[in-house]
Amino acid sequence: MSRRLEDLSGPEIGERITETAVFIQPIGAVEQHGPHLPLSVDHVIAHETANALVDAYGESSDLWLLPTMSVSKSNEHAWSPGTLWYSATTMLAVLDDIGRSVATTAANRLVFLNGHGGNSSLLNVACREIRLSHGLKTFLVHPFVPADQGGVSPETELGMGVHGGHHETSVFMHLRPDLVHIEKASRAVPDRLADNKHVKFGGLTSFGWLSNDFFDHGYIGDPTAATAAEGKRLFEASVELLGEQMAEIARFDFGHR
Ligand SMILES: [Zn+2]
Repeated sequence: MSRRLEDLSGPEIGERITETAVFIQPIGAVEQHGPHLPLSVDHVIAHETANALVDAYGESSDLWLLPTMSVSKSNEHAWSPGTLWYSATTMLAVLDDIGRSVATTAANRLVFLNGHGGNSSLLNVACREIRLSHGLKTFLVHPFVPADQGGVSPETELGMGVHGGHHETSVFMHLRPDLVHIEKASRAVPDRLADNKHVKFGGLTSFGWLSNDFFDHGYIGDPTAATAAEGKRLFEASVELLGEQMAEIARFDFGHR
């Protein structure tokens, strides 16, 4: 039976969505990813990961899928024509509306499954705002922790596979091989940042950046050795790790006394 919210009828919401339900809101982006990838990368990865997650762990953790939010806060790519983005205030307002809507059901858990690293800070803010405004328990997970937020990135990228790099390109090659043009990619790593002790991706000092601050083409990483086989491995490992996280989210309690 479907675990996609939009497949249920109005009366079924009252019957099937109970207090153990965990709603998952996949969040993508429609933004430039360099010449080798389409704008849809983050949307596709968030959407496919969330669907695989609910297919595999929906019954065991009582997961319910919300429609994928395709457009999000991508203003680091505002310079690139065709990138669609919400401002921070719009995005926060949209998330608050989603929270309000979810809170009309019997469910009390909402998970943001975020495919676009540029959303992370705002989503953490939204988690607290929605907790306060609508009383939901709120959570933020990522298919892949972005390299600029402490995620891993291969040696050749010096830890800077931030956007359109090795991992992201590999996963996308697995999901949509026909949309990848790897022959148009080259290594694009801002090597000089690696010399900094603190001011670097994942360093103690963070910094505001736009995706064309490093290179005109706007991708950051080394996608040249990406493969679909590695993408498949990464994707499956990600779904499994998220499955573990969902099990813990499903039984999460603040332990308030
Ligand atoms: Zn991306």
